Amino acid sequence: AAKLYLVPTPIGNLEDITLRALRVLKEVDVILAEDTRTSGVLLKHFEISKPVKSFHIFNEHKVVSDLVARLKAGESMALISDAGTPGISDPGYLIVREAISAGIVIDCLPGPTALIPAVVKSGFPCDRFVFEGFLPHKKGKQSKIEAIKEEERAVIYYESPHRLVKTLEMFVTLLGGERMVSVSRELSKLYEETITGSATEVLAHFQAKPPKGEIVIVVSGK
Ligand code: SAM
Repeated sequence: AAKLYLVPTPIGNLEDITLRALRVLKEVDVILAEDTRTSGVLLKHFEISKPVKSFHIFNEHKVVSDLVARLKAGESMALISDAGTPGISDPGYLIVREAISAGIVIDCLPGPTALIPAVVKSGFPCDRFVFEGFLPHKKGKQSKIEAIKEEERAVIYYESPHRLVKTLEMFVTLLGGERMVSVSRELSKLYEETITGSATEVLAHFQAKPPKGEIVIVVSGK
């Protein structure tokens, strides 16, 4: 029977694609991609030429039932996102849910995702942790941060570079300047760096040197 494969792709370093990911992408009938142009570059690099259909937050509700019908009819599909693991702050959950209720077998390959290297290299205890995805931009941001004041587990956020300083300022105000924070930038890429220290120290670092690139924040458990 046809399967729906969820295939992680590199978060920067192309060497992070797995052998199984390459095989599955070569074997499926159709690749569903968040951005066909971004994925086109990746697929071309690995010499994979397959029909690619777009699947993103703006069309997923419209196309999902047709895709599931095609899976039921025997077409195998691989869902990829722009980077990392589909479904992690990226489209994926909707088609997985619909495919499961249609009796389709789901195969999610293990592979690149930004949150895991960030929490592991923070040096904070990470036998348990919380992944919060992106913080709200405005409404609700303050209460979301206040809610982790007493949290004992490390908390992981995805953040954009132009909001990082503001977020760190809010950590200092709402969690206290002593709370330990680790910011990882450009994981797996040429300019990868991780800055770890008290919220006050990490804020001072990025105030002096405005951040660029892709960012994961890890806040230590209390
Ligand atoms: N699906 C992806 C995953 O599995 O990690 C996440 C997609 S989300 C739309 C993109 C966010 O992930 C970025 O804004 C950044 O916070 C984080 N991210 C992705 N690649 C990264 C990298 N190489 N270094 C640091 N953070 C990264």
